[in-house]
Amino acid sequence: MTYDALIAGASFAGLAVAAQLRGKRVLLLDRKPIGTGQNSACGTLVCILRALGLDDAILQIHDRLVIHTPGRTSVYPVAEPFCTFDYAVLCRLLREQGDAEFVLATALDLKRDRVRTSRGIFRGEVIVDASGWRAALGSHLRPDLVRRDRLNFGLETIVAYKDDGLHFWYDPRELLPMGVAWAFPSGEFSRIGIGSYQGNTSLGPGLDRFLANLDLRRDGFHGGYFPHALRDPVVGDLFLVGDAAGHCLGLTGEGIRPALFFGTHLGHLLCQVLNGEITLEEGQRAYRRLVVAHKPSYNLLCLAQRVLPRLPQPLVQGLMALIRWPAVLRQVLALYVRAFWLEVPPSPVAADTHTWGALEKFPGASDHRIRKNACSHPRQLMRPPNLRHSRWPEGQRSPGQQVERLSLERYGTTY
Ligand SMILES: Cc1cc2nc3c(=O)[nH]c(=O)nc-3n(C[C@H](O)[C@H](O)[C@H](O)COP(=O)(O)OP(=O)(O)OC[C@H]3O[C@@H](n4cnc5c(N)ncnc54)[C@H](O)[C@@H]3O)c2cc1C
Repeated sequence: MTYDALIAGASFAGLAVAAQLRGKRVLLLDRKPIGTGQNSACGTLVCILRALGLDDAILQIHDRLVIHTPGRTSVYPVAEPFCTFDYAVLCRLLREQGDAEFVLATALDLKRDRVRTSRGIFRGEVIVDASGWRAALGSHLRPDLVRRDRLNFGLETIVAYKDDGLHFWYDPRELLPMGVAWAFPSGEFSRIGIGSYQGNTSLGPGLDRFLANLDLRRDGFHGGYFPHALRDPVVGDLFLVGDAAGHCLGLTGEGIRPALFFGTHLGHLLCQVLNGEITLEEGQRAYRRLVVAHKPSYNLLCLAQRVLPRLPQPLVQGLMALIRWPAVLRQVLALYVRAFWLEVPPSPVAADTHTWGALEKFPGASDHRIRKNACSHPRQLMRPPNLRHSRWPEGQRSPGQQVERLSLERYGTTY
């Protein structure tokens, strides 16, 4: 049977592509049931989940970043809040936006329009590799696509620990010379992990030591590699997206927002290809252009993750202090947040059902006009955030406060 689109990998990137292809004959393949393969701390910007109508998955909203360096803790209020979310719920919501068929199978290799899987051969008019850092199909076509020297590695556990804010620890002497640790509170629990910028996989003892400092113990673990450099987004006729295309950012390791962003745009382009509005070659060129437009930001973060851990501590402390100045913090956050994709095309379901009035609660997240046709031309639908305030306006309750209550009432017992 030939499908309009065949997507290998049904996590953030693959599901975002499928959501835009509602009404087409789409096959989603994954080696695990959808929503069961959480390998991350599931932290992202609230605005991207809201833009895609996925905010019911939010567990806790955070309006500050907390960076711990040797001897100093710096708190950075963020005008555009981050959140932690429930992976299974997000995958379910995203899947419901599309109407793709799902087959539990491992994609093995690819020849022209045929994908060989553990459950037989499937054909697709367009084929997307969204299978994560391994790029199961792309690396079959191009064996040198996945470079080990361009992979970070992270290990994480979930522990009963409540807090507020997204915390990062940078302590090259005590922790890891080229690495970082984090704690992302998510309601009643926190996702606590450690990551190596050199792709070092022996992180278990380091994670245990780090947890012991917080009087905590590891309870199971998950994690894996995450890329920090872009790969070719089109190999032959195959489209790659998410970690498969190296869309995860260097330094911060943020890969969910890029996977959702590029996945949504790619789905939109493929919809136009399948409708005959543009040719496959035009779709490939447009997708390449979109990725290349973000290359400078990727290069900058990639450089930062190589250089920052090597700087002398006093210099790092100086930089941290500089960024604490509200004017500088505003600029840094504006660059990071704006450069990375607040303009997303609407999801068809979000367009129909989302209560956009609710966005008024969040600074800079208003003024949205939603278009119903998933295949309409992408345009800027979300105004870039208003980063005039680096803290919540006087008298306004922060989203963190609102969602602490939400998480306790609705999600506190779901783990
Ligand atoms: C420890 C850790 C913590 C992280 N924390 C964050 C965070 O808090 N915020 C953030 O933004 N990013 C985080 N990241 C990065 C983020 O997890 C990834 O960038 C993101 O998951 C990429 O999404 P994706 O859909 O491209 O790939 P994935 O989420 O890796 O999904 C790939 C899918 O493909 C399936 N698959 C793989 N091979 C095959 C095959 N051969 N056939 C069929 N299916 C296959 C997998 O089962 C999976 O469902 C973290 C990463 C790690 C390792």
